Amino acid sequence: MTSLLPILTFHDIMNRPSVISIPSEVFRKGIDKLYQSGYRTLRLTDIADFIRSRVPFPDRFFVLTFDDGYASVYNEAFPILNRYGMSATVFLTVGDEKASRKGRERLPSLGGRVMLSWEEIREMQRTGFEFGAHTLTHPDLTRLPPDQAKSEICESKKIISDTLGIPVKSFSYPYGRYNEQIRDIVRQHFVCACSDKLGAVSRKSDIYALERVEMYYFRSHNRFNIIGTSLFPWYMRAVSIPRRFKRYLQYA
Ligand SMILES: [Zn+2]
Repeated sequence: MTSLLPILTFHDIMNRPSVISIPSEVFRKGIDKLYQSGYRTLRLTDIADFIRSRVPFPDRFFVLTFDDGYASVYNEAFPILNRYGMSATVFLTVGDEKASRKGRERLPSLGGRVMLSWEEIREMQRTGFEFGAHTLTHPDLTRLPPDQAKSEICESKKIISDTLGIPVKSFSYPYGRYNEQIRDIVRQHFVCACSDKLGAVSRKSDIYALERVEMYYFRSHNRFNIIGTSLFPWYMRAVSIPRRFKRYLQYA
């Protein structure tokens, strides 16, 4: 039994350096190391159940999440995770209804990147991957009028559940931004939601603002290998201080 459990957040997996990508070799070796150390994946919605029912987390488990829905989730991460019997939750930015009605094969591009196709999403779904909502157009929800924010949240859920024929239970706030009003809308429509608060989840975590481990801070072999060791909580604390300072400057 353990009191803390990490939810890892990835975006794109590619060798071109960027703030939202991690090299495929680092991903492959990092996942292999976690597997060899006895780590296995839990579903994100299981975490919400553990917290709700006040049951301690099992040892040597973690959760994998991917935000946005880049094609590299299918091309790079899926074959590796499949090999180890691991699963993940992928948060999809699905585009507005008009675009989805056109039967667009791929999700609309974010930042010029190639996104997942619904065919790829269905294939991953068949092996146990879960899909959560990440809005229609990836806005900062806190800057939208309430009606528009509600439509971004609820319409994206509807498009995914209609297309895949499954209930959509989890949500991820674009840029990690939310306020009480946004959290309240999400609470009425989802089982849990992920924020970008840096940290591991505990029994005290808010299930509508779950902490996550942004893999930007672990994008080299040496740093990835810290996950699952006793150094991990120390390293997380060390990176969260400059991050909070940066946020303070951003809003000052
Ligand atoms: Zn995003």
